[in-house]
Amino acid sequence: MPDAGGRWALIVHGGAKAIAPAAWARHRQGCLAAAEAGAAILAAGGDALSAVEVAVRALEDDPTFNAGRGSVRNAAGEVECDAAIMDGASLAVGGVAAVRTLRHPISVARAMLPERPVLLVGEGAEAFARAHGQELCAPADLLVDQADGKGCDTVGCVALDLAGNLAAGTSTGGLTGCAVGRVGDSPLPGCGLYADNAVGAVSLSGEGESLIRTTLAARLIQALEEQAPDAAIETAMASLARVGGEAGLIVIDRHGRIGWGHNNAQFAVAHAASDRPARAFVARDEDDGE
Ligand code: ASP
Repeated sequence: MPDAGGRWALIVHGGAKAIAPAAWARHRQGCLAAAEAGAAILAAGGDALSAVEVAVRALEDDPTFNAGRGSVRNAAGEVECDAAIMDGASLAVGGVAAVRTLRHPISVARAMLPERPVLLVGEGAEAFARAHGQELCAPADLLVDQADGKGCDTVGCVALDLAGNLAAGTSTGGLTGCAVGRVGDSPLPGCGLYADNAVGAVSLSGEGESLIRTTLAARLIQALEEQAPDAAIETAMASLARVGGEAGLIVIDRHGRIGWGHNNAQFAVAHAASDRPARAFVARDEDDGE
């Protein structure tokens, strides 16, 4: 079981994809604000699931990122969002996919946690959201076209609370121009996220089809059973090489150690812990680990 010694930790990402230098500051700032919002909950003794939800909601609200407000258009020019959250204590998972009218997909995913189904799609997920008093919106409210194009994809967060509970969440607008009804890795446990108090928690970004084919979140969790976060990320990246594709990975292990990595040019990330303030980056080599 967790042995984090009363430590809390949190890491968020804003997607693995080339980001134009002019947009680096905006991505750092958005990730920093989300990490600080989640960190405030953990520092006050709040639970990991709440910290993940709050941080991901902040990223969904920020049109810099392709999740919630700011989602990209599919091949029909429409928005379709996916999101999921996982509780490392109970292994409960809640997810929604191909939804068009949810203001905060991550919150609807969280409302799914006590339910038997793991994943609801389309109209079924939207009916669930209505029945549970979740905020709805017009699909057009989620589309915020940006002059400088999208610099980033999926957002995510993993957190460890003072009670030793881990949680992971993801939220995405998918891939620009993807097929109508296409669902990527983000709402699929073992592909885009996973959390298990006995091992660690992870959230991924990248080319969904490659992450699904390699069940990359599951491989990363398996590697974390034996390896420290950075080594486990290298192991998982080696599995991805078999099918190719870009990915960014964030990790917190059961000891509260943070790790992150990516095999593409940029990956916007911010992390914080009980012994260090929040800091934001757009590439792993900016982070000296101090
Ligand atoms: N993984 C997401 C998807 O395939 C997109 C991304 O993270 O860039 O839907």
